[in-house]
Amino acid sequence: MRVIIGALAVLLTACAGPSTETEQMLATPEVVEAVERPEWRLVIHGGAGVITRERLTDEQEAAYRAALETALEAGAEVLRNGGSAVDAVQAAVIPMEDDPLFNAGHGAVFTAAAEHELDASIMDGRDRNAGAVAGVKRVKNPILAARAVMDQSEHVMFAGAGADAFAEDQGLELVPNSYFDTERRRQSLERVLRERARTDADRHGTVGAVAIDKEGNLAAATTTGGMTAKAAGRIGDSPLVGAATYAQNGVCAVSATGHGEYFIRVAVAKTICARVELSGETIGPAAQEALDQVAALGGDGGVIVIGGDGQYEYVFNSKGMYRGMIDPKGHHTAIFGD
Ligand code: ASP
Repeated sequence: MRVIIGALAVLLTACAGPSTETEQMLATPEVVEAVERPEWRLVIHGGAGVITRERLTDEQEAAYRAALETALEAGAEVLRNGGSAVDAVQAAVIPMEDDPLFNAGHGAVFTAAAEHELDASIMDGRDRNAGAVAGVKRVKNPILAARAVMDQSEHVMFAGAGADAFAEDQGLELVPNSYFDTERRRQSLERVLRERARTDADRHGTVGAVAIDKEGNLAAATTTGGMTAKAAGRIGDSPLVGAATYAQNGVCAVSATGHGEYFIRVAVAKTICARVELSGETIGPAAQEALDQVAALGGDGGVIVIGGDGQYEYVFNSKGMYRGMIDPKGHHTAIFGD
């Protein structure tokens, strides 16, 4: 909701995070257009692609909506109780990693070698601390491994066997690689290997979350199985800070999903936040510009974005994106482009 107020809006903006711009605004009191910041807010996605009404049965749609609501509620519980944005994004993506509907954790796509290699990242907008894992095969919830990298190591990213070993040292739950198997994803692998062609549904279901907490802190998380039949060792955008995940207090938090190679080349998440920070663009146009760059290179996908003022946007150039938002005033989920 947009409201026109004067000095009060300036003060509210100042609470969201001091900046040179804010200081300048305080020095020249005038009527400005400001936005009302929600007490807290969480926005999630469960992947983007050719997701149309014709392709989804009523039962499937209901199942996806219920799964999105479970994820929203898990993150909202943290924020409602005064927890941090980074704890909330983690809490929101865990149920989606555990749900076989999504291409993350259990239900992740298969590699060409009929295994699973999982990627995840998390970022805390307070200090731009971040953690990521790429190509893990044994950690049940890759987002917890990414969080452990952020909190318990001096590094930002671990890959492969070393990442699994680090997770084990941290006491995280390990599972056999077959834990991630689902029949649906196995059939997709067989089809891709047979037809030597991948549809965009073969990478649907990456999940992510962005949040603003009661203190105005931002955070983002993204976790995925990647692409069906990806070559062993292929790493997409999801674990890369600046490509699929970014959070900077007072600026924006982003989680992306889509054809990872293009999102890496455009550095989508950082491009959005940089445009907001440096050019003063609002999050919607900034996200649209980044996705236009992805499209110009031949890629597709989408992002969820939350600004330093708590406003949010879903922007995607695919037909649909599993998505949802919750704040103290209510919640919703959506799937299709219309
Ligand atoms: N971005 C993921 C990857 O390229 C897949 C997706 O989000 O659809 O690994």
